[in-house]
Amino acid sequence: MGRTLMTFANDSRVVAAQAFADEVIAPNAEHWETLGRVPYDCFEQAAKAGLCGLLVPEALGGSGLGVGAMAAVMESMASACMCSAFSFAVHNNLAGYVARYGSPSQIDRYLPDLIAGRKIGAFLLTEPSVGSDAQSIKTFAERTASGWIINGEKAWVSNGVFADLISVYVQTEHGSGAEGIAAFLIDANAPGVIREDAYKLMRGHALGTAGFRFDQCAVIDDALVLAPGAAFKAAIAGINIARICVAAMCCGTLHASLAQAIDYADKRRAFGRSTLEFQGVQFMLADAATNLEAAKLLTASAIEQHDAGVDATISAAHAKKFATRAAFEGIGDCMQAMGAAGYSAEYSLGRHLAAAKMAQFLDGTSEIQNVVIGRGLKSIYGRS
Ligand SMILES: Cc1cc2nc3c(=O)[nH]c(=O)nc-3n(C[C@H](O)[C@H](O)[C@H](O)COP(=O)(O)OP(=O)(O)OC[C@H]3O[C@@H](n4cnc5c(N)ncnc54)[C@H](O)[C@@H]3O)c2cc1C
Repeated sequence: MGRTLMTFANDSRVVAAQAFADEVIAPNAEHWETLGRVPYDCFEQAAKAGLCGLLVPEALGGSGLGVGAMAAVMESMASACMCSAFSFAVHNNLAGYVARYGSPSQIDRYLPDLIAGRKIGAFLLTEPSVGSDAQSIKTFAERTASGWIINGEKAWVSNGVFADLISVYVQTEHGSGAEGIAAFLIDANAPGVIREDAYKLMRGHALGTAGFRFDQCAVIDDALVLAPGAAFKAAIAGINIARICVAAMCCGTLHASLAQAIDYADKRRAFGRSTLEFQGVQFMLADAATNLEAAKLLTASAIEQHDAGVDATISAAHAKKFATRAAFEGIGDCMQAMGAAGYSAEYSLGRHLAAAKMAQFLDGTSEIQNVVIGRGLKSIYGRS
């Protein structure tokens, strides 16, 4: 059994991502956890391997990957550290978003630095009082003669501690819900943009998560990237890809955790035998392995549907819900199989476990995946 998408195993970016994971992310993951971010020079190093413009078409200087190869890259990176991988995923998604929706001047201004890893991107949708119900955001952009004035607060911004370019979702007309939501591209150091301190988390600080405030932040018309009506639809369209990537990352992290637990149990001896020979230990790891294989198949199925142009909303929700749960439960069992050593910081299972929990919130919680699946129950599984 190999990675989720054997089709992409030999893609040069996937090979480069595995090397980057083994040589750069794995040895530094604990340091980045303490540092509270992935350093700039690592983005630049990743960029040299083509890992900062994954979704940007080759014609615009990117790597031009599809969703399957992007997911396989993220799976490889997450085998070393899911939080670091997610930091790169968010950055790559922003670069892909600028390439897809940006005006020619926005593309000229921002894309070369994003692809080169010189400027880092982030997405700002969630707010302190609004998470799952994203169409209820309150950050407001008011039209002026020469542009827009933005006021409000954003919460839980991955890469927020160090991002240079932020995509900010705002309401433009009170009471209009999704139809009034627009999106702006804003320099994170512009006047009126206030970066909050990093969140103190149970772990996962490498993701550099922080909030932002906007206080009379004046932006020109060309900062508008998606007009009211278009922005929320684009966010929803992007979320299936994000969910598929989170599922793939969970597969990478669970696979790495299983490998660690199996190697340890194979060498560890109790009652005159290797602990891997005890049926109780084997069954725990066997269940984690079965769930890993099922998560890979669901992820691959969502990618196949997406690439075939079929609506992948429900299959992406199945993959994300199942893979995040398989990772959280499976990594816990890997720790259990290692005894006290599994709990030691000498091994990376604590970091992996916390990241798997985090994955159950990102890009829609597990309950929101069930809301999506629930909507399709009658039409997909009903008798009439
Ligand atoms: C480490 C981290 C990084 C993040 N990065 C980003 C980022 O870069 N950009 C960004 O915009 N956001 C980001 N988020 C925010 C994330 O998308 C939200 O946490 C998520 O959407 C859930 O929102 P919430 O936490 O406010 O939970 P709430 O919406 O307050 O939900 C609370 C609980 O109620 C449940 N619930 C809510 N609605 C329903 C429903 N209809 N049916 C059943 N149950 C429901 C939820 O599942 C959850 O269990 C990040 C979060 C974390 C933890």
